[in-house]
Amino acid sequence: MTWEQRWHPLREEWVVVAAHRQDRPWIGETVNREAAVLPAYLPDCYFCPGNIRISGARNENYTSTFVFDNDHPCVGADAPTQLESPVGIFQNSSASGISRIVCYSPRHNLTLAELDVSEIEKLLTVWQQQYSDLGKHRSINHVLIFENKGEVVGVSNPHPHCQIYATNFIFKTIDTEARVSQRHFSETGRVLFQDIIESELEDDRRIIFANETAIAFLPYFARYAYETYVAPRRSHTSIATMSPEEIKGFAEALKNLLVRLDNLWRMSFPYVLALHQAPTDGGRHDGFHFHIEIHPPLRRPNLLKYLAGPEIGGGNFLSDTAPEEKAAELRSQSENHYKQVR
Ligand SMILES: [Zn+2]
Ligand SMILES: [Zn+2]
Repeated sequence: MTWEQRWHPLREEWVVVAAHRQDRPWIGETVNREAAVLPAYLPDCYFCPGNIRISGARNENYTSTFVFDNDHPCVGADAPTQLESPVGIFQNSSASGISRIVCYSPRHNLTLAELDVSEIEKLLTVWQQQYSDLGKHRSINHVLIFENKGEVVGVSNPHPHCQIYATNFIFKTIDTEARVSQRHFSETGRVLFQDIIESELEDDRRIIFANETAIAFLPYFARYAYETYVAPRRSHTSIATMSPEEIKGFAEALKNLLVRLDNLWRMSFPYVLALHQAPTDGGRHDGFHFHIEIHPPLRRPNLLKYLAGPEIGGGNFLSDTAPEEKAAELRSQSENHYKQVR
């Protein structure tokens, strides 16, 4: 039984692990895990090759990845710049920025977990390029690359894709990580994330996969049951400076982890995946260590982790599961995707 509080060093907050509660009776809402069988191409999908999007633009007949500006941008060049000042202490600013979509492949039904390692490698090089290109803009202080996967996280189009928000502000989690990492670096001369990797390797129970250049693990301080990280072993402030060899190793680690997640309940595992990279604000970020965080909302095959009193009301997570047990579940999974086993 694990019943304790664990410190999350990247977020500087406590996570309450109360794994003795995981078998408490549940009569709440459950999630239907029956997935619709999708075709490889859908004539009315806005993301499939050759189709016309909502904006009237026609997609290229692309054959690998495909990058385009989001037709429903959250931040964009067209956002109003002449804003009315709010009253009192309130502040506003223009929602300017750049929103893009990256389709992983022409295949409407091929998820990231099902791409070949070489195709994932290709995608990682696209992310390298996007981070460099967008980060160069003087007005862009951060590039957030993320994927929402599955209906339970509200994905609007099932065609496998990720999104990019290049913004004038730095997203809160990254801002915290950057500040905490830089402080650790100036105080100790070490990269905080390297200390995390070292501790995970020393404990070993939560390592899901490791090769020469990359590592995948379920951290000691996980907030979600299957929260998992993928990181290069060498420190890079962003994906952009990783060598082709490191990209290859990273692709292998990411693929391995995603396959295990899918195999766990033999379903396409829903998640929010985000690249955590240093801000592009011109500041010093030598203590930052690029990594991917995967936050799956399910804690059982058809049971969502609800954010409630502790999380929304108080801002700290209460985890009903022990990270060591969840890591053991993933470690015992096959490395071959259940759909691709012949
Ligand atoms: Zn499609
Ligand atoms: Zn992070």
